[in-house]
Amino acid sequence: MAGHHAIEATPVNRPHGRYTQDVLYAATRPGGGLSGTGITMVWLLRALLTVTLAWPVLGHTAFAEDSEPDVTDEDIEEIDAAAADQSAASPYEIAREKGVKAWTTPPGAKATPEEIDDHVLYVLGNVTNTMFHEFAHGLVSELELPVLGKEEDAVDAFANVVMVNHDDDPALDAMMVAVADDYFTAGQYEDGNSADMQMDEHSMSAQRAFSVICILVGADPEKFKQAADNAGMSPERQASCSADYEQAAGAWDKMLSDHYVKDGEKSTSKITVVYGKPAKGQEAIAKLVKESGIVEAVSEQMIGLIKFPNPIKVKVEACDDDNAFWSPEDRSVTLCYELAQGYLNNSLGIEPDDSGEE
Ligand SMILES: [Zn+2]
Repeated sequence: MAGHHAIEATPVNRPHGRYTQDVLYAATRPGGGLSGTGITMVWLLRALLTVTLAWPVLGHTAFAEDSEPDVTDEDIEEIDAAAADQSAASPYEIAREKGVKAWTTPPGAKATPEEIDDHVLYVLGNVTNTMFHEFAHGLVSELELPVLGKEEDAVDAFANVVMVNHDDDPALDAMMVAVADDYFTAGQYEDGNSADMQMDEHSMSAQRAFSVICILVGADPEKFKQAADNAGMSPERQASCSADYEQAAGAWDKMLSDHYVKDGEKSTSKITVVYGKPAKGQEAIAKLVKESGIVEAVSEQMIGLIKFPNPIKVKVEACDDDNAFWSPEDRSVTLCYELAQGYLNNSLGIEPDDSGEE
């Protein structure tokens, strides 16, 4: 298949599974931290919906076995259809499906349906992680949070923890692996011995890749063992990652505890998404990002999680720079089409002319 997917051979890389009643186990997922509060609430809402849908299924089974013999095949089909509908309730799964519909294969390139699915998950996964990263800069700035250590590492940790702290979601799992994958790819173009890299606010891409893997395998050592093995992470480091994960999730949870949207509370946050006109040649990536609704999905998750004190703007636009950034002055997150194009290029195996940072 096309592309430089350094750790592509993972069982979670091509998720064709759909949501099932696995979601009922959301609340019992191992690992504390953010999962105990706001994040889980968003997902619990979905779990509740699933429970509602699951009842007729349970009811029918019970009746079929004892007093009600007239359950027809049609009934069961109808229930399955309802369950399949519910299966699309993950905002990331929905974005993936819309993204596949919005996909345009670049001129001269070829892509099978499976490859298109991979490319879409890759781009959307990296956009998702970047958006959470920039929103985390927004949290630090808007909520005046203290930061111990490098802010870039802290906001990376937020993005990684938020993405991993959910109930089973094959689309999101694949997206997370794609994030690590992209950092490994970016790392191939970096010179770790250069002072420029060493003094950068960000950790080096290879380190950021392992941080993603560490959060994944720390949150769920079994599910992500293969991805960690493929990335070359030693069993000892994989084992110690559970402490990294707990610390990152716990620290953010403590920081955000006063700002969560509490149970039964309505979020006061307002996030507006505005799309700029793509530059020449950016039409396809702009269409993919916009029509997938991924930026809105991430924004809605932030709204459901946090009460921001001020309205936030998200600008998706051409910047003449492959970047994304938080601007404290106008309380905005900017996602450049160039950055999304860079993710797509990495997925397609097209080498960059220069390397960007977000
Ligand atoms: Zn940053």
